[in-house]
Amino acid sequence: MLVIFHPDATTAEIDAVTERILATGAGAQRVVGAEQTVIGVIDADRDHITSLELDADPGVDRVVPVSSPYKLAHKHRHGDVAHPVEIAGVTFGGVTPTFRLILGPCAVESRDQTLTAARACRDAGADMLRGGAFKPRTSPYAFQGLGVEGLKILAEAREETGLPIVTELTDLRDIDAVTEYADCVQVGARNMQHFPLLTELGRANLPVLLKRGMGASIDDFLLAAEYILTEGNQRVLLCERGIHAKATPARSCLDLAAVTVLKEHTHLPVIVDPSHAAGRRALVEPLALAAAAAGADGLIVECHPDPRNARCDGPQAITLDTLADFAAKVRGVAALVAA
Ligand code: PEP
Ligand code: MN
Repeated sequence: MLVIFHPDATTAEIDAVTERILATGAGAQRVVGAEQTVIGVIDADRDHITSLELDADPGVDRVVPVSSPYKLAHKHRHGDVAHPVEIAGVTFGGVTPTFRLILGPCAVESRDQTLTAARACRDAGADMLRGGAFKPRTSPYAFQGLGVEGLKILAEAREETGLPIVTELTDLRDIDAVTEYADCVQVGARNMQHFPLLTELGRANLPVLLKRGMGASIDDFLLAAEYILTEGNQRVLLCERGIHAKATPARSCLDLAAVTVLKEHTHLPVIVDPSHAAGRRALVEPLALAAAAAGADGLIVECHPDPRNARCDGPQAITLDTLADFAAKVRGVAALVAA
């Protein structure tokens, strides 16, 4: 952190600020310029220094953070380049990423619906199967998922198709069940800042697909990832899925700038969910193509054998007969970007 003084700050004012910094246990390196003095705060407890409100001290012009608040998620951690994450033999991200497709229904509704979808996803070249057994629904009266029965159906789908499965954990009480069946645990947008959940998943030996909260800044998002990383679990995939914006004509506003900004800041793979941003089928493919063009490492997309009778998110589910064409198009764009 740098403390920058006004040109007319007195030596007594600069000394007083120095004392306050040293009292926290941090170092204070003074640089006297022709016009202004600057103190570099070294080895600081960032929150402690922030709580001193040094910018209100006499003589101080402003306080500027230098290092990143997230140490493990930051790109510096891996020599300033993207670092791959491996999930059940499938590698996401890294310096020369293979564009990955996670396909599947929003929710596991029945054995037949899930197995039918899973076969079509496999045939379309999916790398992983998605499906929610525990669903975070806005209304308590909406279908909440099949729970453990849904996990068993997903395991059967994996058995048959060979696709690894990603499924959401919404409640700490279900962590044992979910980690028993999943290859990757999803943390949904609504739980991005459920810190005890993140901490427990940091202790679990399973990759985590962390979705960005609808109102979360990039710092909020990376600090949420940091909760997982700091417990020892380094396998985190970040997922942009659209943020709240009143003026968007879609369900959420897909923030594709976030893909580039995240890749500037972190080594973690970044994927995009066009389905929840879109809210309706017609928007899914254009958003998916745009995400591939923006340099995402992959997509997570909802599909359904019979969207009009789906129990969850039917209007945004793409149909199974369009999957192969969809996959070819997005992979085509990703290949252009990589070329
Ligand atoms: C989902 O992927 O099924 C889901 C609920 O997504 P989100 O948390 O992004 O709303
Ligand atoms: Mn959904």
